[in-house]
Amino acid sequence: MTDVTVIGLGPMGSTMAETFLAAGHDVTVWNRTASKAEPLVAKGARLAATPADTGELLVISQISYQAMYDSLGDLRLDGKVLVNLSSGTPEELRAAARWVAGRGGVLVTGGIMVPPPGIGRPGAYTFYSGPKEPLDRHAETLKALADVHHVGADEGLAMMYYQAQLLVFWSSLTSYMHAVALLGTAGVAPQDFIPYAQETFTGLGGDGPMGFARILGEEIAAGVYPGELNSLHMQAVGLGHAVHALKDAGLETTVPEALKALFERADAEGRGQEGLGTVIESIRKP
Ligand code: NDP
Repeated sequence: MTDVTVIGLGPMGSTMAETFLAAGHDVTVWNRTASKAEPLVAKGARLAATPADTGELLVISQISYQAMYDSLGDLRLDGKVLVNLSSGTPEELRAAARWVAGRGGVLVTGGIMVPPPGIGRPGAYTFYSGPKEPLDRHAETLKALADVHHVGADEGLAMMYYQAQLLVFWSSLTSYMHAVALLGTAGVAPQDFIPYAQETFTGLGGDGPMGFARILGEEIAAGVYPGELNSLHMQAVGLGHAVHALKDAGLETTVPEALKALFERADAEGRGQEGLGTVIESIRKP
């Protein structure tokens, strides 16, 4: 089986190393705090003296791209393929690709779309971008972690897809917590709301009348946002009522207030009779 090195042994990197071991690969590990390698060494991994004392394929999972610079320092990377699955900004990823190339290596960027317990499980996938040939060459090994989705040659693109997914994840789940908190002020247990929230989450992603992921995507692609049946103005007023309700209940309202400000700006810009999708025009012009 192929050699693979995992750099960074936080919850993600440690699980990745374990997953590669379980898939039968020869695994080398390196971490700033070397003691975190001990459980993996006990399972058969080799502890590298430096992050460049390794084979061709390096899978990096650290808190940031700065951590990669701190870890690799002045080491040469000739012939190495670095697959960095850490969080960063798209610009940081593009700069990192140039930095790695300057040391003789090649960088493939990625964003893995599961938390540690999902690694190696069905349904897990990773967005990758950057050069496709080195990714294809190592795809069989990387598939042990998650399915491989190459989204383009631009090294920043993997992180854009990853952040696109996380924006939906964080904002919808924060709204879910506002919802649970609001109902909680009237004595409703979170469990009582779960089935309704599930209905909404499933509906938004589906093809039925609540399937707004598709509906809005198609409207935005066409640049046309029909609002005859549910205008943005009506929704801005309704959102105002929801913010008022949260305040009356004594809750924190930063995020709902920000949404309200965005809706009201689109309305004030004269697009209140269009549908919700028209909000994208305001997002595009801050
Ligand atoms: P962290 O983001 O906390 O990263 C921990 C790792 O970063 C450790 O190996 C730590 O080393 C290393 N590190 C931090 N600073 C430095 C530095 N200056 N130099 C060298 N190493 C450094 O933990 P996770 O494992 O949870 O996440 C890793 C990456 O995966 C992150 O970018 C995260 O956004 C991403 N991710 C995480 C998910 C999750 O659910 N946890 C899901 C999807 C992606 P040390 O042990 O020495 O402190």
